[in-house]
Amino acid sequence: MDYKDYYAVLGVKKNASADEIKRAYRRLAKEHHPDLHGEAHKAKAGEKFKEINEAYEVLSDPEKRAKYDQIGPGWESAHHQRPGPEPSPRRGAESFSGFSDFFEELFGGAGRRGFGVSDAYATEPETGRDIEAELPLTLEDAFAGGDKRISIAVPEVCPACGGAGRRGRGFCPSCGGVGELQRQRSITAHLPKHVGDGVKLRLRGQGSPGQGSREAGDLFLRVKLLPHPRFKVSGSDVETALTLSPSTAALGGEAGIATLEGPVRIRIPAGTHSGRTFRVPGKGLAKGGGARGDLYAVARIDIPEPLSDKARRLYEQLRETEE
Ligand SMILES: [Zn+2]
Repeated sequence: MDYKDYYAVLGVKKNASADEIKRAYRRLAKEHHPDLHGEAHKAKAGEKFKEINEAYEVLSDPEKRAKYDQIGPGWESAHHQRPGPEPSPRRGAESFSGFSDFFEELFGGAGRRGFGVSDAYATEPETGRDIEAELPLTLEDAFAGGDKRISIAVPEVCPACGGAGRRGRGFCPSCGGVGELQRQRSITAHLPKHVGDGVKLRLRGQGSPGQGSREAGDLFLRVKLLPHPRFKVSGSDVETALTLSPSTAALGGEAGIATLEGPVRIRIPAGTHSGRTFRVPGKGLAKGGGARGDLYAVARIDIPEPLSDKARRLYEQLRETEE
């Protein structure tokens, strides 16, 4: 009895994911479906088709796959050393299923799940895939929220080959054998206000279109805030510089902080040093639950330029008092 390398049949690696196995199966099943071949090749395609389905039957079922993975090409000798191998009760006409002897020996009747070649054949239309894409946003746009038109490449099943990647005996010229085409689509995303960096927005039904009447996948947009010349984002907090004149810093007073939602006036205590940080609560980015982060304004003392004659004289007097 020949060992069957199901991974080789599907052309996947031994550590292939369930998704990779499914995709490989779909592609091969479409390629070798007997109905797609002329009389001359029908029988040969049918053989190959059975082999593909058997491999998929095993590798798509975690239990069967685990059992299969435990054996190797040396399986037969190991198997034969086992004392008194019990004959499979399912052998005979009623178990005829198109499966190989290897499969029957390994799984017998117990491992089967009412499988028939026809219902495993995956011409069934599939729901569209979810897509994830980055959404670069300026801080102004992130604060404002609202509708934003974006252009995005969405993979769609190639209409020329129906996703099989092949036409006739060659690769599909439309998609180059991939089975998918990237189509640029214009989408309107509704942005919440004050959306933070890394937030994922879900746009239902805007992913890859489903086949036939199946529903489309979702589009997940991951917000990527672009660097801003005046504001630095740290989580849901935003930091900016607060420029103070030396007199305000020394004597105290009021100063305006430019925020992304217009200026905010704050009180500056006398004797404010450069680097002192003022917190403006709730003026940062959204941090979930309706709450918002804070705005931090870092004091920076700046000399007005150019100095007026009067100011110069006053500074000179000031210097005298310092000496
Ligand atoms: Zn194609």
